[in-house]
Amino acid sequence: MSPKKARTIHLILYVTAFVLMLLVYIMQKSDMYTFILPLAFGAGIILIGSSIIEMAFWRCKHCGRYLGRQKFIEYCPHCGMPIE
Ligand SMILES: [Zn+2]
Repeated sequence: MSPKKARTIHLILYVTAFVLMLLVYIMQKSDMYTFILPLAFGAGIILIGSSIIEMAFWRCKHCGRYLGRQKFIEYCPHCGMPIE
């Protein structure tokens, strides 16, 4: 998987988890407790999956190093090569 593809998937999963957490928050406020646990659990799983993808594939193709927390970069901060 290319780093840019991994970044896209990571961001989509991150936003999905955020939306789920928002739903949990809203449901908690309006006393809808039925779906809170599965939603919170799902959000946790998605966050973990997203982190694993990021750690595994958000890496420079040239020097192989982790590209860092910053997601909107075009060049590797370590070797300066463009991110594919
Ligand atoms: Zn690099």
